[in-house]
Amino acid sequence: MRSNDEIADADEEALFILFVDYSTGKVSMSMLGEVPVSRVRMKVFKVGGGHDVDCIVRSADVLGFQLHWLGVRSFMCPGSDCPACAEHVGAKWRGLLGVDVLEGSTGGRKCGLIELTDSALGRLRFVADCVGGSGFLGLHIVASRKGIRSPMRIEEATPGAARVAGVREIRSEIVAAAVATLYGLPSPGPGDGLREWEVRAADVARVIIGKAMSRLALNGN
Ligand SMILES: [Zn+2]
Repeated sequence: MRSNDEIADADEEALFILFVDYSTGKVSMSMLGEVPVSRVRMKVFKVGGGHDVDCIVRSADVLGFQLHWLGVRSFMCPGSDCPACAEHVGAKWRGLLGVDVLEGSTGGRKCGLIELTDSALGRLRFVADCVGGSGFLGLHIVASRKGIRSPMRIEEATPGAARVAGVREIRSEIVAAAVATLYGLPSPGPGDGLREWEVRAADVARVIIGKAMSRLALNGN
């Protein structure tokens, strides 16, 4: 299995959401907003040091989860009965939000996900409260970090501006399917709500992290 980072790198050039049905080999970009087929790949925009990510939020809410860092990559924490939590391995919260990143120089847009820390989510909630209305859909924000280890900042792109109207929502099931692709977990099936998916994904995440913990133990780490 490829690591998360390899998958993320492979997705660096993906500009749009692709639905790939591995049973038929059919690739489609036309199903956004409908029932996802087996795999969704979305580019993850990392907010690096000293560079701003100017974006319009296309998710109503953040999809959040805990990650354990083991060896060279991160693993999703299944929550209950987690082999890493049982060994007191630290975990960090991460959230993913669907966005269109605006490229100032070309006027282009790239659809993808940005990764939020818990403090950045607090800032995002503050921005949403200032702008008014509910949820995050249509907020125009700038995400930044001063340095690579600095806390992530979220600010209104134009202070006092209203939400962007007519933004097409990327539903949380689509974000969940992209997260599933990143972490080698099952995608939401047709008719699955987030809750049903979380239970199925956690069962697989528990097996994956259990195997990783066993490998680390064998290697004497
Ligand atoms: Zn855990």
